[in-house]
Amino acid sequence: MGNVSNRSLNRRFLDDFDTQTKCGGEGVAVTAVSQRRFAHRLQSVDVNGMYSAGALARDSCRLDASGQSARIEWQECTLGGSRPWFLCPECGRRAGKLYELDGAYACRICHHVVYRSQYRSPGERAADRARRLRSRLGASPQLWSPIGEKPPRMHLSTFRRLRQQIHEAEEQFLDWIEEVNRQQTHDALLLEKRITHVQQLVADLMARWHEVDGGS
Ligand SMILES: [Zn+2]
Repeated sequence: MGNVSNRSLNRRFLDDFDTQTKCGGEGVAVTAVSQRRFAHRLQSVDVNGMYSAGALARDSCRLDASGQSARIEWQECTLGGSRPWFLCPECGRRAGKLYELDGAYACRICHHVVYRSQYRSPGERAADRARRLRSRLGASPQLWSPIGEKPPRMHLSTFRRLRQQIHEAEEQFLDWIEEVNRQQTHDALLLEKRITHVQQLVADLMARWHEVDGGS
């Protein structure tokens, strides 16, 4: 149960996984929430970008070639000047960005847009944390790779603390993967049971059908 050899096996598998999450950026969690609309996948317009591009009229802005537009509201800044906001065409709330979905622009609340970081699983967040801490120590971002020497001018106590935090984050990541594996095994067993059950039902029906058939 959760023994060392299992863990080292997992680690080997995880080296690939780690690379995948780094390259693909989405990893396992996204399959579970694929119906979510991720901000980075949607076309969006940024009010400040439009402003600097000189695309804002006094009270409206054209959003795309199809001629859709949004109203603009100017907010007075305490230090003078004013900054523009879109008014969401759907709800009228102020928004810095509008997202395009099925040809219509609206704020992220109306389109139920989520940022990828909000939907990262606990395991992925732990892996991110480990990589961030690793980069602070000048170590390779590859999880479980050697951390190496203390950077010059860093206190030994800081170095030890960060190194400890890296180990903890990496262990958390591993725990999460094991949990996912357990869940998948559990689901697979359940599915197998259901299939057996259905096969049994079919066999029973066939037997009864033969009985009826033979009896008539
Ligand atoms: Zn809205």
